[in-house]
Amino acid sequence: MKFDKTILNAFGQIETPFYYYDTALLGQTFDAARQASLQIPNTTVHFAVKSNANPRVLQYVRDAGFGADCVSGGEIELCIKAGISADKIMFAGVGKTDKEIMLAISNDILCFNVESLEELDIINQLAGQMDKTVNVALRINPNIDAHTHEYITTGLEDNKFGIALDDMLKAVKHAINLPNVNYYGLHFHIGSQILNYNSFRILSSRINKIQDALEAAGIQTCSINVGGGLGIDYDKPQDNPLPDFNKYFATFKKYLRLRPNQVIHCELGRALSAQWGSLITRTIFVKRTRTKRFAIVDAGFTELIRPALYQAHHKIINLSATDKKRHRYDVVGPICESTDTFGTDELLPTVERGHLLAILSAGAYGEVMASQYNCRPLVKAYCTEDIIKQSGH
Ligand SMILES: *Cc1c(COP(=O)(O)O)cnc(C)c1O
Repeated sequence: MKFDKTILNAFGQIETPFYYYDTALLGQTFDAARQASLQIPNTTVHFAVKSNANPRVLQYVRDAGFGADCVSGGEIELCIKAGISADKIMFAGVGKTDKEIMLAISNDILCFNVESLEELDIINQLAGQMDKTVNVALRINPNIDAHTHEYITTGLEDNKFGIALDDMLKAVKHAINLPNVNYYGLHFHIGSQILNYNSFRILSSRINKIQDALEAAGIQTCSINVGGGLGIDYDKPQDNPLPDFNKYFATFKKYLRLRPNQVIHCELGRALSAQWGSLITRTIFVKRTRTKRFAIVDAGFTELIRPALYQAHHKIINLSATDKKRHRYDVVGPICESTDTFGTDELLPTVERGHLLAILSAGAYGEVMASQYNCRPLVKAYCTEDIIKQSGH
């Protein structure tokens, strides 16, 4: 993300807080992902819409030729509206309602990622009523702990996601026998913010074993969906604005044993959307106590809940700094909850009332998770081109 003079001048004219989406970096990110994905033939990148559902962003997703990974009827409608073609839309989630399933069927989406036998039956029944046959991929829980990069036998009954490995063969056979669903493929998603590529290597070898088992039972699989979860650098976003998409796809190319003509899907969210988004906020007061300096800003967890929800930390910079001297600040929001804190002891160039701060890496799981707690209005998001227009250049 770049904050040049034009951008900074324009920021001064806009009511804070707001989201700023650097569309040059967005373009670079999407290009890098698309280029890297070409390493594996027949790969489609699906943008995980739950990470950022801004209509303008979805237009960039469409223009990049990406598909979409949706987790609600609302997301499917937004994608269709943005012009993303239905045959590139997948629908995932453990709790799809009948209404959402029917919406997806009537739009002829590419496939449902199905998480249980019950869901398979309901999709079959609703598709039958609508005189359609729909593609289903079965989400298999491969028992991989993405954070410890070891095989781990998680209690299968404890995990709400996916179909247990033990039930896989039964589920696939069931799908094949249902009249109004077509067994399209297998779906996996092992976690989020994964920076250890070994997890993707382990996933690949697990998928290889699963495919061997299915083939032994005479079952061919058309599509493999490796999910999302590639992480980003929250500590040094300015040094590492692009995730290593090459390494990500190279890992699957190297370790995943694909069958001839098999198609590959991945569903990246954060990796495609985090780094080009910043939350821009104005300092309302700088409060000094005997031991601390607080920068009290006009954004709160209503705009960016990740720090409060996951104890996540986003890099904060002072865009208005004039002073070389640095101090430690607790950067806090105005909401009446002590979790409304963006950072403690942040080393920042002297912050004064009125200074603009940027909270970085906020393009993913930022705007989409906004709330109106404390009767605060939802804030706007501006792309670079909106900002330039605003400032009259
Ligand atoms: C959330 C989610 C994604 C995207 O996750 P990221 O960590 O943002 O890449 C992809 N697939 C499924 C099934 C998900 O639930």
